[in-house]
Amino acid sequence: MAKKKPAGSQMVYYFGKTRTDGDTTMKQLIGGKGANLADMTSIGLPVPPGFTITTECCDQYYQNKQKFPKGLMDDVAEAVKTLEKETGKKFGDNSNPLLVSVRSGAALSMPGMMNTILNLGLNDESVVGLVNATGNERFAYDAYRRLINMYGDVVMEVHHEYFEEAFAKIKKKYNAKDDNDVPTEGLIELVHAYKEVYKKHTKQDFPQKPMEQLELAIEAVFKSWNSDKAISYRRIEGITGLKGTAVNVQSMVFGNMGDDSGTGVAFTRNPSTGENKFYGEFLINAQGEDVVAGIRTPQPVDEMPKWKAPTDKTIGKKMHDELMKIKTKLEKHYKDVQDIEFTIEKGKLYMLQTRNGKRTGAAAVRIACEMAKEKLIDEKTAILRIPAGDLTQLLLPSFDPAAKKKEKPLTIGLPASPGAAFGKLAFSADEAVDRAHDGEKVILVRKETSPEDVDGMHSAAGILTSTGGMTSHAAVVARGWGKCCVAGAGAIEIDEKGKKIKVNGKTFTHKDVISIDGSTGEVFAGEMATVSPKMSGDFETVMKWADKHRKLGIRTNADSPEDAKRARDFGAEGIGLCRTEHMFFEPERIIHMREMILAEEKPAREAALKKLLPYQRKDFEGIFKAMAGLPVTIRLLDPPLHEFLPHDAKSQEEVSKATGIPVAKIKTRVAQLHEHNPMLGHRGCRLSVTYPEILVMQVTAITEATINCLGKKIDAKPEIMIPLVGTVKELAMLRRITEETIEDVKTKKGFKGNLPILIGTMIEIPRAALTADEVATEADFFSFGTNDLTQMTFGYSRDDINSFLPDYLSEEILERDPFQSLDTTGVGQLVAMAVEKGRKTKPKIKLGICGEHGGDPASIFFCHTVGLDYVSCSPFRVPIARLAAAQATLKHGK
Ligand code: ADP
Ligand code: MG
Ligand code: MG
Repeated sequence: MAKKKPAGSQMVYYFGKTRTDGDTTMKQLIGGKGANLADMTSIGLPVPPGFTITTECCDQYYQNKQKFPKGLMDDVAEAVKTLEKETGKKFGDNSNPLLVSVRSGAALSMPGMMNTILNLGLNDESVVGLVNATGNERFAYDAYRRLINMYGDVVMEVHHEYFEEAFAKIKKKYNAKDDNDVPTEGLIELVHAYKEVYKKHTKQDFPQKPMEQLELAIEAVFKSWNSDKAISYRRIEGITGLKGTAVNVQSMVFGNMGDDSGTGVAFTRNPSTGENKFYGEFLINAQGEDVVAGIRTPQPVDEMPKWKAPTDKTIGKKMHDELMKIKTKLEKHYKDVQDIEFTIEKGKLYMLQTRNGKRTGAAAVRIACEMAKEKLIDEKTAILRIPAGDLTQLLLPSFDPAAKKKEKPLTIGLPASPGAAFGKLAFSADEAVDRAHDGEKVILVRKETSPEDVDGMHSAAGILTSTGGMTSHAAVVARGWGKCCVAGAGAIEIDEKGKKIKVNGKTFTHKDVISIDGSTGEVFAGEMATVSPKMSGDFETVMKWADKHRKLGIRTNADSPEDAKRARDFGAEGIGLCRTEHMFFEPERIIHMREMILAEEKPAREAALKKLLPYQRKDFEGIFKAMAGLPVTIRLLDPPLHEFLPHDAKSQEEVSKATGIPVAKIKTRVAQLHEHNPMLGHRGCRLSVTYPEILVMQVTAITEATINCLGKKIDAKPEIMIPLVGTVKELAMLRRITEETIEDVKTKKGFKGNLPILIGTMIEIPRAALTADEVATEADFFSFGTNDLTQMTFGYSRDDINSFLPDYLSEEILERDPFQSLDTTGVGQLVAMAVEKGRKTKPKIKLGICGEHGGDPASIFFCHTVGLDYVSCSPFRVPIARLAAAQATLKHGK
């Protein structure tokens, strides 16, 4: 028996009755698949024995100019010997041959990304051995033709189509409709034909030495780690820092040995809805990938008990019972939903894979709640189990049932991934990417999708396939992303080249809109109306749990009463950022705004501002009303003035008409206001320093609105935020004018009481962070404007970053877009420093964040650790922030 080598140098990890080296904690080293195969073996589940080559070997393979690490094949040979002993079969034998599969498997699951080779070890001699050992000639040649095909395709890159063509010829000759209808002699002929195809395209004979087959297959798995589709998938999923893929070599079991054999995939609970019901598909007399490939349509596992074989009338019931026992055992062991692959060989069940099942946001919520109820996990685990970002899916609209009633679906496919999507048809992944990039909403229609399509699938609003089941590539990937998908809509005829589909006699082209309902599988012509979602009881439970544990307050970024109201319904505890510039863009307002900017003298400016005042006041009253009793942070005017200017001739004419200023003069003024770097130019508090009357108007509107609301018993709580401060003196000056203005308004309105309006600033210029102790002397609160802070700390223009960001991400110079997820190492230091300095000056100073980062779970975690009081994010992200804040407390402690 092979001896275990000292830790660190071991390249091959065995699993089986002889010994099991790995366990579930070793995912980094032996990959998720390998770790769980070892683990399942250890807990006594029926797993065919095998061994795993470490991810470190893959890493070394690349470091070593694509050569195997020294001694790897010796260790592999030794492990094969152990496997031969354990199974009583011999690799390449002509009486009872050992066959193996070669499977990839990185630390994180990448469904369908890498290639599996089955039946390895077959050659012209051992195929006869397999006939002798099994007494099943048809099966043996079926296995052999599959090997030549997979090996040719995966290892030698012979296009699958060439094999398909050869197969089609044989099928035609034997008048066979299905693969399974081809008789034995047909399969023997097919093996010859496949060998010819192989030779024609590789200029070599199909390798007859099993060890040579194995070596090349292992290398092919290593190579697949850096295939385009694998790289693409890692980029989209943001997977970085992995060593490579492990390689699993496992003795074969056969689902294609007759009517008492089969193969399947299943989830221990429903991955779309979360319902606690075993869910999956199986195929009788089939091997491996047949289920996922969509060649034959599988049956739902629910129907398994009805399965009868001539030799065994109760086989289905027995297998189903056993699977149910395994479901319980796996869930008890992993304490999570499992996604499993199994094969039945002549009435004996084998487990080939288990992993935590990918699920939709809705399913994640339901599963967490129900598992907590079942006492499988505790409340804290349940909270940590739900990917906070996935809650967005629960907040998305669905099709309006009333509208649906009036419309007959064109066809109904499988409800592969819930959601409601509509768009124009796109027929290839590239087309979907391009058109989505140009701002179009598209539905990607394919016969079936493959890993090459992931970019296009990601870009599309929804995915529609005409073949493939609930566990097909499209379905699995879409569910992982929470993207709407209808699969297997067989009535749809796709003409990819002609760019049209035909369904029930109607034709649709790339110009036509269709709607797909991923929760029901329905497909409709045209754009269907949508309705906002209703929150489930489980969602409420999760939110309640989250509120119990979180320390961070949650506010929202909202500029209108509607947004404010929505955010409040989602649980926002205030507004952390109310931008005022958006309020100036409506047609009847922009004209006065332009008039103000174009004015050269203060009196003219003041006259224009006077016309804007009532609009602003009314806006604020609406927002105060919606947020009554909760704080509302209002940011004074921030963008460069030129953003409001009329740049084209037509709008210049309009302004001229409305204001009486000659067009020529407008042109000159526009040119005067031009800046080379507007985002670093005349904006933010700098505007109020040069034009204090703008600030006066805005503060007047805020104060009047507050007094008016209080008069109506509406508890308005404004906080005035002065943007883009870099030195304490700017803030001191503007604070003084703000306070004077508030006093003026009070006097004018005869308001006697106390108006508790806080005055604070954004920390978004690095200098403000560095001198936060000084700035704090003039501020009642800080709100970190991490969008600008990131822009100025990195020196990346946030409006132009897309010209180089993709390269930075693919070269892994940056792990992720720093505008989406806060750069905690760099920008984070400035935040942490400002928190510390600010609190030193003013221990009670209120601290929050209002950049985009306020709704990003990883950034929220950081905000919790540096001790902010609240985060503020867009209304739809409020539930995400509540959950992420609770997760931060649980992960980080106080
Ligand atoms: P993927 O990561 O794409 O799911 P797998 O390595 O899991 O690829 O292999 C795909 C399928 O091949 C499995 O679900 C299983 O049905 C079949 N398979 C792999 N290894 C074996 C084996 N040793 N015996 C029988 N079938 C196997
Ligand atoms: Mg698998
Ligand atoms: Mg800013």
